[in-house]
Amino acid sequence: MLETVRRQRRAAALPYPQMTLAVPVAIEGAALHSGKTVRMTLRPADADHGIVFRRIDLEGGRDVTDIRVRHDRVVETTMSTVVGNAAGARVGTIEHLMAALSGLRVDNVLIEIDGDEVPVLDGSAEVFVDRIEATGLTALDAPRRAIRILKPVVVEDGAKRAALLPGDGFSLAFEIDFDNPVIGRQAIEADLYDPCFADDILRARTFGFLKDQEALRAAGLGQGASLENAIVIDGENILNEDGLRYEDEFVRHKLLDAVGDLSLSGLPLLGRYEGVRSGHAMNNRVLCALMADETAWEVVDFVEASRPAYAAEREMLAISAD
Ligand SMILES: [Zn+2]
Repeated sequence: MLETVRRQRRAAALPYPQMTLAVPVAIEGAALHSGKTVRMTLRPADADHGIVFRRIDLEGGRDVTDIRVRHDRVVETTMSTVVGNAAGARVGTIEHLMAALSGLRVDNVLIEIDGDEVPVLDGSAEVFVDRIEATGLTALDAPRRAIRILKPVVVEDGAKRAALLPGDGFSLAFEIDFDNPVIGRQAIEADLYDPCFADDILRARTFGFLKDQEALRAAGLGQGASLENAIVIDGENILNEDGLRYEDEFVRHKLLDAVGDLSLSGLPLLGRYEGVRSGHAMNNRVLCALMADETAWEVVDFVEASRPAYAAEREMLAISAD
């Protein structure tokens, strides 16, 4: 469905419509930090609704239960990205779900959830991607809008750096350098609007070190962490029986996190992101810095990337459409 819409739009150079889910999608699983089982239903929503969490375990009106997923609603960035509302309701570990919605171009969805954390599942966005792709999307009768980056915005903190820059499509580059033989230095480039993005990036799992686990647990975090939902590293060994999904799964996951965190712009971004040892805090800082400077971006109709690779693909599709 999504692929058909993309091909038709691209071949005919039509504006993209906003998308929502074709049907509700129910997902259940353990929360990474609390360890509790959480039930969640992703529901189709109207054009311009955006992405909103609704805490169905809380009593009260919408101002109590509803949390809009936006960069200025981020209340915490330790270990995961947490959004909250003025009444104090929160939902954490949202980044993998947000990356899936962003990668699959789901613009509008109401997420009913009965706890304060999105299920961690396998530690990647794979389950979200598979479940949403299985039931498909619906095009809404409204144009898809995007935020086009007009000038560079950079935040730095020691060796950490995150930048949002002008550019075609939405390309991302990430670099990590861990003092660990299993990870070491890894770098990757990807484009969110590349058809391979879901397979190349969204299936990369989160990771942690065995030595950190006790401290995390003592701090009330990572109670649900296991080999089922994270790559666990002990010195120079990976403890997961099946090893890695990609040789450089670590940096791919960091890029996945960045896509999720940056989707809190509220509209798809057109430009480029560069992260060096960045994480949830830096990702949110650079996005807030961009949005705070109204001369650094503009809202435009969403257009497919104009990179040469896409132009060639467009030509091929136009020919095969005859
Ligand atoms: Zn992550």
